[in-house]
Amino acid sequence: MKIWIDGKLVGEEEARVSVLSPSLNYGFGVFEGIRAYWNGENLYVFRLLDHMDRLLRSARIIGLEVPYTAEELAKATVEVIRANGYREDLYIRPVAYISKPQISLDVRGLQASVAIAALPFGKYLKVEGVRATVVSWRRVHTSMMPVMAKATGIYLNSIMAAVEARARGYDEAIMLNAEGKVVEGSGENIFVVRRGVLMTPPVEDGILEGITRDTVITLASELGISVLEKSITREELYTAEEAFFVGTAAEITPIIEIDGRVLPKGPITQRIAEAYRRVVTGKEEKYARWLTPVY
Ligand code: PMP
Repeated sequence: MKIWIDGKLVGEEEARVSVLSPSLNYGFGVFEGIRAYWNGENLYVFRLLDHMDRLLRSARIIGLEVPYTAEELAKATVEVIRANGYREDLYIRPVAYISKPQISLDVRGLQASVAIAALPFGKYLKVEGVRATVVSWRRVHTSMMPVMAKATGIYLNSIMAAVEARARGYDEAIMLNAEGKVVEGSGENIFVVRRGVLMTPPVEDGILEGITRDTVITLASELGISVLEKSITREELYTAEEAFFVGTAAEITPIIEIDGRVLPKGPITQRIAEAYRRVVTGKEEKYARWLTPVY
């Protein structure tokens, strides 16, 4: 596998960092997760520029200097996919990090390296639906960590949640914030339907501003489904008529059980999932602007 690093295509074994990198030791880095879809003829990267824009915003939040524009990183992504000759669904992982050793926590003025890897990827969560549980680990509060940044160090919080849920026999975690409001999964945003209204937690409750979340809000309004961005309590979650996770890796995944309460794979979830699939595979001319053709 060829990986793009700072303008060069290198073999996987050459893509290495110092074990004393502050990104490895302290979690000082930012990353993205992007999907590309092969529809039998074309390979389209979904919302590539939006992901690279978010990577740069994440870097700005944590104070990491990334010496590339979003456009340059998008071009590099297309280059690395072509170099590997992929003709299948992919997951793309750009990461900005400090490759050199440094013990000091004073990371000011260090310039990031960027690596972009693309790998064949199928489903992340069970397509037929997942059993979810509210875990004991709370989402880190925005006063403690910059949750809006997709920063590597913050993912220890996600790992604790993801592992706790699975160790207790569930498929995925639902996290509450410090105030006890439902915020997100370990690597997904969440939507619930109550009394026919689709709702999702607002960004200010401390979530990652998901690109799939934004896609779903756009598609829902087009389908005539109103979406409310509002804080969601645990009771509202437990009395939802439908619920689903959304994310680049998770796509649209129905939640079929929450802490022993069974949910149907409801009509709104299904309509959104179908619309999403059509858009990412290039079947909706109207959303061609979200697709970057590789070939
Ligand atoms: N929340 C968290 C914590 C995530 O890691 C992700 C995955 N990037 C998401 C939400 C969904 O974001 P997106 O739709 O941009 O992939």
